[in-house]
Amino acid sequence: MATDFDMVVIGSGPGGYTAAIRAAQLGFRTAIVEKYKVLGGTCTNVGCIPSKAMLDSTENFDIIQHKASKQGIEVGNLNLNFPALVDRNKNVVKQNNDGLNFLMKKNKIQVFTGVGSFVNNTSITVTNEGEAPKTVTSQYFIIATGSKPSTLPGINIDKQRIITSTEALYLKEKPGSMVIIGGGVIGVELASAYHRIGTKVTIIEYADSLIPTMDKELGKELGKLLSKSGIELITGSPVKSAENTGSSVKVTYTDANKAEKEITADYCLVAVGRKSYTAGLALENTKVKLDAKGMVEVNENLQTAEPNIYAIGDVIRGAMLAHKAEDEGIAVVDGLKGHQHKINYLRIPGVVYTWPEVAGVGYTEEQLKAEGIEYRKGKFPFLASGRARASDDTDGFVKVLSDPKYGEILGVHIIGARAADLIASAVIAMEFELTDTELTKISYAHPTFAEALKDAFLISSGKGAINI
Ligand code: FAD
Ligand code: NAD
Repeated sequence: MATDFDMVVIGSGPGGYTAAIRAAQLGFRTAIVEKYKVLGGTCTNVGCIPSKAMLDSTENFDIIQHKASKQGIEVGNLNLNFPALVDRNKNVVKQNNDGLNFLMKKNKIQVFTGVGSFVNNTSITVTNEGEAPKTVTSQYFIIATGSKPSTLPGINIDKQRIITSTEALYLKEKPGSMVIIGGGVIGVELASAYHRIGTKVTIIEYADSLIPTMDKELGKELGKLLSKSGIELITGSPVKSAENTGSSVKVTYTDANKAEKEITADYCLVAVGRKSYTAGLALENTKVKLDAKGMVEVNENLQTAEPNIYAIGDVIRGAMLAHKAEDEGIAVVDGLKGHQHKINYLRIPGVVYTWPEVAGVGYTEEQLKAEGIEYRKGKFPFLASGRARASDDTDGFVKVLSDPKYGEILGVHIIGARAADLIASAVIAMEFELTDTELTKISYAHPTFAEALKDAFLISSGKGAINI
């Protein structure tokens, strides 16, 4: 059957736009469908990009306020222009939107604005308000419709005082106080950003430590450091309700001693996870199935029950990360052209952009214990790093977990300055199955934060660190 396109991607987040670009590069006649007027999805518009812009601005403010004077830099009156900070976030986002428009044109990808809904497995309609619906046919489809914030039973997100990360990134006023429900990735990143500019922040987390999906030692250390900086942490405490009382929000929770507690703040940010988004796709017109959590079911090739319809990113199982969505987009399209690209999910790093940063790849220590996998451990503190001392960034450590027989790297977990960039070398080491001993034999520039990795490899390999 002749179709309008070879490939139609539904959703223009990092999964969707990456898949579309690769498809066009490989010669597919490609279109992308996005329900919003701007391309880029959650990550570009209300996720990775504006949150990192905000974290960067507030980190600069914090450095000038707290670190500069220690280093002999005297600053006069310091003011924060909150609306200007938020405007800069918008501007950074717009630069990325413009970049994506350019990439679509450059790669001759047709962009349809509107909601994509399946008619059958080779045809969709695109519906945009005020326009007649268009029918678009294609040989292949990729569903890349992402995710939306979750909430808790009994909590109504009114977007006024009870908000999600989407509103928190674009508030009109600097909040005096904010309660954050959930000490996961969004919770700790936005807590850091607001605390740095003077908002009184309280995080209430259900688990007994922060960022519970990462190696536990990282969450514990991050908890200590964020508490020390002045963020109030209430762990082991499920939140039960949040109520907008007009001028503030009343949040109730059960504390670690099972006592019912109440706390009031200007805003309540609900950051308890995200759920995959399939509304509007009309999947009932296809054989595509959803799992019990409402995620699109795919096989190991990311193929749905309709062999010509694939799904990637937040809408399917696995970590909700932009680079995971991108890797999956590339894997699907390369696979269709016969280029094998198997994703090893254990080697996808996770990064938290607090200060210090947190990053991990591979098995956590808890997973190794649970699976009965033997390991040896090398842990090196940044306090013993010359580079860290030179920049007053001595918090945190590098932890290497390796196989006791051959020294293959099983996991690397870092909390410390520049962990987000340091983790890349650990990913390479794992991908190419390098051993801790081999990793002690290469040269690390001095003085760098990367030297902390070398000392951790020296410890795990049994040779012993040089610097402690
Ligand atoms: P999305 O980015 O969610 O894009 C899906 C797109 O599909 C949306 O534009 C949506 O409008 C569109 N769509 C949905 N249904 C239809 C339809 N029927 N028709 C047409 N279009 C449709 N990840 C990181 O790796 N690093 C980070 O630093 C990071 N920071 C984050 C910060 C925040 C505050 C948040 C909320 C998330 C963050 N993430 C981060 C997670 C990251 O944003 C997601 O993992 C990523 O966006 C998933 O990409 P995706 O392509 O699967 O979907
Ligand atoms: P998350 O899963 O990271 O954290 C949610 C937290 O809420 C968990 O710690 C959980 O224990 C807690 N929680 C659940 N119910 C609770 C209750 N009743 N009371 C108190 N706490 C409760 O989810 P998130 O922080 O909302 O982030 C959503 C997704 O976005 C994540 O999958 C994350 O990977 C992605 N993201 C990534 C980055 C990054 O890569 N830097 C940044 C932001 C978001």
